[in-house]
Amino acid sequence: MSKRDYYDILGVTKGASADEIKKAYRKLAIKYHPDKNPDDKAAEEKFKEAAEAYEVLSNPEKKQRYDQFGHAGAQGGFGGGYSGGGMNMEDIFSQFGDIFGGGGGSPFESFFGGGGQSSRGGRRVQRGTNLRIKVKLTLEEIANGVEKKIKVNKQVVCSTCDGTGAKDKNSFQTCKTCGGSGAVRRVTNTILGQMQTTSTCPTCNGEGTTISAKCGTCYGEGVTRGEETISINIPAGVSEGMQLSMSGKGNAAPRGGVPGDLIILVEEIPHESLKREGINVIYDLHVSFVDATLGASIEVPTIDGKARIKLDPGTQGGKILRLKGKGIPEVNSYHKGDQLVQVNIWTPKILNNEERELLEKLKDSPNFKPSPGKNEKSFFDRMKEYFE
Ligand SMILES: [Zn+2]
Ligand SMILES: [Zn+2]
Repeated sequence: MSKRDYYDILGVTKGASADEIKKAYRKLAIKYHPDKNPDDKAAEEKFKEAAEAYEVLSNPEKKQRYDQFGHAGAQGGFGGGYSGGGMNMEDIFSQFGDIFGGGGGSPFESFFGGGGQSSRGGRRVQRGTNLRIKVKLTLEEIANGVEKKIKVNKQVVCSTCDGTGAKDKNSFQTCKTCGGSGAVRRVTNTILGQMQTTSTCPTCNGEGTTISAKCGTCYGEGVTRGEETISINIPAGVSEGMQLSMSGKGNAAPRGGVPGDLIILVEEIPHESLKREGINVIYDLHVSFVDATLGASIEVPTIDGKARIKLDPGTQGGKILRLKGKGIPEVNSYHKGDQLVQVNIWTPKILNNEERELLEKLKDSPNFKPSPGKNEKSFFDRMKEYFE
């Protein structure tokens, strides 16, 4: 079940400007809006799909991650708490404020003659702040993907008042300023005639109700400091500095609003003997010149345990052996890197008398004279092999 490309969904090119992206989305949002297509599941899917694409491409940070890493970089491919892999309607409608330039609420009331979204009214949805955490991962965890359970200190919904901020059920009253609509209208006279503006009610902050007695635990905020153990699914192939986001797992919002996102910053723990180079893993192997001369079977560490490699007789220092598929997978792909084993010939630094005598005897042996032929790979060839 692969996701469609966000640019394809909006029908724009990768180089499209912010304005072009906005225009393209506005067109689709109007075309597929649920009020215009009642009981049409296909239209609703298209509506949600376009909203998700816009959400990412309109946010410079998310767009950059998407351009770099595809769906996993933005938010889509990231399992975790991302409910249903799409945005909910509440999120989509709250996006409209900046698309259509209205003061919140549904701009479609003017397009389609009102109705439909009565439950939303003119209320402003409060949003919790995003929460950032760091996750340290071993090379093995990066190679295989991992589920991390992490205890996070954050704003949680107050359990005493269930997030309402009120002492009890009888503490709610309809806001006297706005009559419960959450919005106030003001008529001003200008040289162009009367102008009517709508803004969020300052008394109730757009909620439509006020509270006469506050909850004693959260002092009316609806949120308290708390701890939550969050299960985070890290996909295989992530790298240092990459950010993953889990929608709705950040700080809870005051009084029943939408929680913020949890942003997870990836940190790599260096491996004791393997070095990561993109999707490949590098291992520096040191062998004695005797093993290199006679050939040997040698055990090397890999990400998933030990592996044996065969050293041919007459192996030269600098040779790179490739263990296919023993590297790191690309994020959201079946493509996997290799382990590259670089052969280094170990030259003894200390010799006893017996060893010295043996070597002295071999010193002038014709076979011990360096004589690189055409078949020997040059440094340039090896570097090319290494980077291909
Ligand atoms: Zn409370
Ligand atoms: Zn009010």
